[in-house]
Amino acid sequence: HHLPIEAEKRNFVRQVKNAIFSTCYPTPLSQPPKLVAASKEVLENALDLKYSDSLIQSKYFLDFFAGQVLPNGSTPISHRYGGHQFGHWAGQLGDGRAVMLGEYISNEGIRWALQLKGSGKTPYSRDGDGRAVLRSSIREYLVSEAMYHLGIPTTRAASIVTSDEPIWRDQFYDGHPRAEKAGIVLRLAPSWFRFGSIEILHYNQEFHLLNRLVDVIINLHYPHLSDDNRKYIKFYAEIINTTASLIAQWQSVGFTHGVCNTDNFSILSLTIDYGPFGFLDEYNDDFISNTSDDDGRYRFRFQPNVAYFNLDKLRIALSSLISEVDGQKELSNYKRIYRRHYLHIMRKKLGLKGSNKKDTKLITQMLKMMKNQKADFTMTFRELSEIDIQSINNGFQSENIQKSWSLSKVMRDNEWPKWIQNYLERLNVTNWKLYDDQDRQLRMQEVNPRYILRNYMAQIAINKANIGDFSEVRNLQNTLLNPFSKQRNAERLGYAAPPPVWASQLRIKATV
Ligand code: AMP
Ligand code: MG
Ligand code: MG
Repeated sequence: HHLPIEAEKRNFVRQVKNAIFSTCYPTPLSQPPKLVAASKEVLENALDLKYSDSLIQSKYFLDFFAGQVLPNGSTPISHRYGGHQFGHWAGQLGDGRAVMLGEYISNEGIRWALQLKGSGKTPYSRDGDGRAVLRSSIREYLVSEAMYHLGIPTTRAASIVTSDEPIWRDQFYDGHPRAEKAGIVLRLAPSWFRFGSIEILHYNQEFHLLNRLVDVIINLHYPHLSDDNRKYIKFYAEIINTTASLIAQWQSVGFTHGVCNTDNFSILSLTIDYGPFGFLDEYNDDFISNTSDDDGRYRFRFQPNVAYFNLDKLRIALSSLISEVDGQKELSNYKRIYRRHYLHIMRKKLGLKGSNKKDTKLITQMLKMMKNQKADFTMTFRELSEIDIQSINNGFQSENIQKSWSLSKVMRDNEWPKWIQNYLERLNVTNWKLYDDQDRQLRMQEVNPRYILRNYMAQIAINKANIGDFSEVRNLQNTLLNPFSKQRNAERLGYAAPPPVWASQLRIKATV
């Protein structure tokens, strides 16, 4: 990159000045790494490896996945960044438990920056140990790939290893840390820069470096802007657009990130840093996935506004490159852009073609009924797309509806008769041939997943993995490769079944 790297190889914790990265080596595990899972798809498509079980089980690959050995020519680095956490500038954060091993340009021509997470102390570890526990690593590993296969921009995960090296964590917040298993995930992204990567340079008044970093990001990731004399404001405008699009996609699958700090907002608008995330079960737009988020700042329904807040912080961080007037003007488009993306996706989820000014009402009324009736967010849309319109219209007389576990709840709402009337009118069903409904169903099934990574499902996989059984991690991963198609094995495993009662009691705290 030819960007300043702090040429200090020891990993002691410190405040770093005038650098984008620090060189920093992974800390070898004291107990040998064991493979939990690896993604055939990522290893083949991103890293051009010829996948086989013997390859990924080989000593070389296990050591590589764990950071025990480095690829030839690698100078591992940790990023320096800052961030606004829960609304407040938090100063220097940085990769406290991650190192980037280097970049690989795939045969497809895509740039992949390889990063190990959980590989030990770095200059940015503050008071942390630089490790990650197996439970949070499994969640990140599974959901990265689940999001990718839902079609949502995200970082990727190639592998996850564990080790018996004890990691001490106060998991139950009772003042008694207990030993847990370690996890190390090999993550991939075209870039790991965050809003906070630019913010740290702005607040430390390292403007020359900030300008160079932004130029590097533009040249590598926004090359069409490289020679534009308004490149900085256009760069900002593009990030507004892609961030709005990302959040609209989160909202469309009921994804709650949980920690929407500016250090967790990617400069490429990828979903990054999966921690206490959660997918909605019963639709509740006040859902707070991170139980450490006392005020519910990052609740599901606030995410679009939080993105606006974060984009405003990015605007301020770029204020040495773009004018106040230009920046504000672009940011003022955010709400409209977000609404456009959101409406576009939600229309598709309801199988609506074209647009009609009553569509917003059709969508909000559906959500309102789902909330009132505590209907499952994912399954309501899925059942709407799997059940023929005749049965839907016939309601409880239909056997398909009686068997449905979520749509039937919505139908108990007082507003249902009016809603279905409006929906049928909007679809224009009076003119329909048989195939028109089949077409509706197929279109809707392509955008309404049947399988999502519910927290309780991840938890079952975690509980098994903690006693050395990785089968559930692998079953979930296989299922989530094809979230939009019904799979026999996944049905047998109950992955599209109603969540058990204990699922709603599960609490996911921000993990360290
Ligand atoms: P997060 O809220 O998970 O994105 O983490 C915020 C900051 O804390 C980041 O800079 C992380 O690198 C750092 N961090 C989280 N866990 C650890 C850990 N176990 N050791 C060192 N740093 C950590
Ligand atoms: Mg983070
Ligand atoms: Mg995190």
